[in-house]
Amino acid sequence: MTYELVSGLETHIELSTKTKIFCGCTTAFGSEPNTNCCPICIGLPGTLPKLNHQVVRYAIMAGLATNCQINNISKMDRKNYVYPDLSKAYQVSQFDKPLCKNGYITLDSGKKINILRIHIEEDAGKLVHERGDTFVDYNRGGVPLIEIVTEPDFRSIDEVKEYVEKLQLIMKYVGVSDCKMQEGSLRCDVNISVRPQGEEKLGTRTEIKNMNSFTFMAKALQYEYDRQIDVIESGEQVIQETRRYNDDTGETESMRGKEDAHDYRYFREPDLVTISTTDEEIEQIRSLLPELPSAKLDRYINEYGISATDAAIIAKYRKVAEFFDEACEGVKAQKIVSNLIISQIFRRFPTDGEKEDFEISITAKMLNDLVLLIDNGKLNMNLAKSTLEKMLDTGKPVSELVSEKDLSGVDESALRQICEEIVSANPSAVSDFKNGKTNAFKSLIGGVMKATKGRADAMLATKILEELIK
Ligand code: ADP
Ligand code: MG
Ligand code: ZN
Repeated sequence: MTYELVSGLETHIELSTKTKIFCGCTTAFGSEPNTNCCPICIGLPGTLPKLNHQVVRYAIMAGLATNCQINNISKMDRKNYVYPDLSKAYQVSQFDKPLCKNGYITLDSGKKINILRIHIEEDAGKLVHERGDTFVDYNRGGVPLIEIVTEPDFRSIDEVKEYVEKLQLIMKYVGVSDCKMQEGSLRCDVNISVRPQGEEKLGTRTEIKNMNSFTFMAKALQYEYDRQIDVIESGEQVIQETRRYNDDTGETESMRGKEDAHDYRYFREPDLVTISTTDEEIEQIRSLLPELPSAKLDRYINEYGISATDAAIIAKYRKVAEFFDEACEGVKAQKIVSNLIISQIFRRFPTDGEKEDFEISITAKMLNDLVLLIDNGKLNMNLAKSTLEKMLDTGKPVSELVSEKDLSGVDESALRQICEEIVSANPSAVSDFKNGKTNAFKSLIGGVMKATKGRADAMLATKILEELIK
């Protein structure tokens, strides 16, 4: 029998606010343990939380960017549980009135992954296991999170991966989070069940907690899919439970039985007022949203005529996309800009992280100046490429690196004369070419370029040489 994989995701994203959700402590990552804490965020009795408004604004932005409806009235609730990383023994979260609901993200196939809700909550501290002991670091306690919950809409590991990548990119564009999985600012709880192909009823699910790498997520899903099928095929039943992925063994292992909502004894957080947001405020926030990755991609492909692959490479990094957009200002052939970025500039930014940060030595305006010269036929491609190298090395604009003479190019009659000289000086290359050695042509073009110090228009030189040799 074949089994279908069914999965739904709960994704936690740390918001990029400067301070925590209910106090003024910094959210900075990587500080000495327990230095970014105060009586409020470790929950000492007698302290009172105060909601950071930026958290609400960011969460609304996240909701709007994922096609959610925003609830005008929303509230915070206490979710009670005991664990050493949570000194209050409750987490302030949202239960029945989340800030956002009913959104979706569209996959490349056109399939929509429905988002049930997005709510805001505080993060817990972190347990650090060292030298056989366990320590608690409360720095992360009270860092604002949004939790984005999907419907069980995923049918393959690839769909899960694509969704998380798209979600991550959208949130980075909107600027609500850096979504660094390795630093834990994006973590997924992955719910998975299997059912016989064609069956409507959902199978019993397990939940794999806290996945913060695409590789682990894929491995864990595959392992769990196989495991659940084995359980069913051996006549037993999958137990609803919370599991964790162990990278040493490549297996998922049981952590605890699944708790239901009523186990948490949710009740309204009495120390915080209702969150009320007017339609005007929501629209005002919507007007601040930047162009989203899917819209950019669409524009690059359909308006600029850039290949889908190249468009995706540019749109994958927000800073690169912004740089590209500015460099395209007034340019007729935007493809030149994307080619220069992908084939030449990216050589200096080999890793994903470097492209992400994109700390480039020239401004987008400088690249724009260079491309406008190419666009207007003032600078040939060879010279443009070598000029771009110099620009990247020195950070200088094109005006300081090429002379008026370079820009004037070589006019057609002068070029024709040079071509004639090259042809008569290289009879063997000419006869090689006539005998079908196409490479010989390159040496002739090379000769022309050398003679003109790279100023010749290579297309025109090719045309003239072809005429002369024929
Ligand atoms: P919680 O895990 O906090 O109890 P929910 O019951 O709302 O919360 O479900 C959490 C996630 O589990 C959702 O993303 C949902 O899509 C997913 N889910 C629910 N049922 C199944 C199932 N049978 N198979 C796979 N995923 C499921
Ligand atoms: Mg869950
Ligand atoms: Zn604090």
